[in-house]
Amino acid sequence: MTFQPLTPRLSILRLGMVNCYLYESARGPILIDCGNPGDGPKILAALQQRNYHPGAVRIVATHLHIDHIGALAALQTAGAPAAHMSPLDGAAVAQGSWIRPMHFAGPFAWFEDDINRRMVASQRGAPASIQPDATDGVVLYDELTVIATPGHSMGHISLYSPADGGVLICGDAAVHFTAQPNISFLYEDKMAAIESFKRLAGMSFAHAVFGHGKPLLGIADAAFRQRVARFTRNA
Ligand SMILES: [Zn+2]
Repeated sequence: MTFQPLTPRLSILRLGMVNCYLYESARGPILIDCGNPGDGPKILAALQQRNYHPGAVRIVATHLHIDHIGALAALQTAGAPAAHMSPLDGAAVAQGSWIRPMHFAGPFAWFEDDINRRMVASQRGAPASIQPDATDGVVLYDELTVIATPGHSMGHISLYSPADGGVLICGDAAVHFTAQPNISFLYEDKMAAIESFKRLAGMSFAHAVFGHGKPLLGIADAAFRQRVARFTRNA
């Protein structure tokens, strides 16, 4: 399992249902998100193939969910530093909490209370070391601008780099399984998720990558704007 290049600076590591990313900045490698519990050895092996020791890699996590921070404590045991997160989601992860109750679109909405009860009870892990400084507009390591994108989780962040034609790292602020990017089918606040998606669509980026689904390489911002036009028609 290896990081596969998407742009000169950005590579993807596919971990089953979820992706994590390596952004190679002028100041060193930055890992964005870190998979499920148990993915630690795969991530460490992929970093090693690039000759990166975990202690030399910076980490940014887009949000608190189990499939994005599950291996964080394991990476830190191997020497990785504290992960940059938003203050809200970061505070939860620092206490070993990996989810807040969510709402579900479609048929799952019927079982929402039951699913939430089970998930909140089961999705707890080792507290991880967090640097809760990833707030809107902060530029991490001179290259990755934090975009607050609440909705999927209320402390969710996306990351933007103007390099390589403009790269947007969406986390779960958007998913890309079908022809167009879309908001996730689960969220803490759907209206906030739509507003965040619209904010991203107003930016300029050639490439967008997602926690779930396939990368959108080339004129990605146009695909976001097409989706926004449909939100407006259906509103
Ligand atoms: Zn999520």
